Amino acid sequence: MKKYRETHKEEIKGYNQKNKEKKRLQHKAWTKENPDYYKEYEKTPKRKEYLKKYRQENKEMLREKNKEYERKPKRKEYHKEYYQENIEKYKKLNKEWEKNNKDKRVSYVNQSHRKHPEKLKARRMAQYKIPFKSACEICGDTNNLQRHHWNYDKPLMVNTLCSFCHNVQHQKNIPLLTI
Ligand SMILES: [Zn+2]
Repeated sequence: MKKYRETHKEEIKGYNQKNKEKKRLQHKAWTKENPDYYKEYEKTPKRKEYLKKYRQENKEMLREKNKEYERKPKRKEYHKEYYQENIEKYKKLNKEWEKNNKDKRVSYVNQSHRKHPEKLKARRMAQYKIPFKSACEICGDTNNLQRHHWNYDKPLMVNTLCSFCHNVQHQKNIPLLTI
C-alpha cells in the first residue's frame, strides 16, 4: 500500500484535488451525524498535548491571527455589545483590583512613562490645553475622568473617558464607540 502511494503520488494528489469539495461536504455531513466524535477526540491526552505544543510553537502567529480576527466588524460589534451589557460588572471588578493593587498600578504607569516618553509628553500637553468634559464620553460616568489619546503623535486629539473605559480602550484597542 505504501509503495503504491509512493509510485502514484501525483495521481492521488490530482484525485484528491478533484474531489476536495465532495470530500469536504461528506466530512461535514458525517461530523454532523457524529457530533460527539470530535468532542471526545479533543479531550484525549495525546490531542491536548499536541495542541499545547502547537500553541507554544506558534505563539506569535496565533496572536497575530487573533488580533486580525478581533478587528473584524462583527467581532467589534460583539465586543461593544458585550461590554455595554456588562459594564457595571467590569467596573466593580476593576475598582476592586485597583484597591488591592495600588503599588502595582503606580509602577505600571511609571514603567510606561520610562518606556514611552512620547506618551508622557502628549499627556502633559493635553493636561494644560484641553479641559475635561463633564462626563465620560462612553458611559457617562462623572468620576475618575482621564484624557484618552487616540494617537500620541497628535497630543491635542483627546477624549474624556472614565478610568475604566480608558483602560478598556487601551487593553483591547477596540473602538467601543465612535466618539
Ligand atoms: Zn466610562
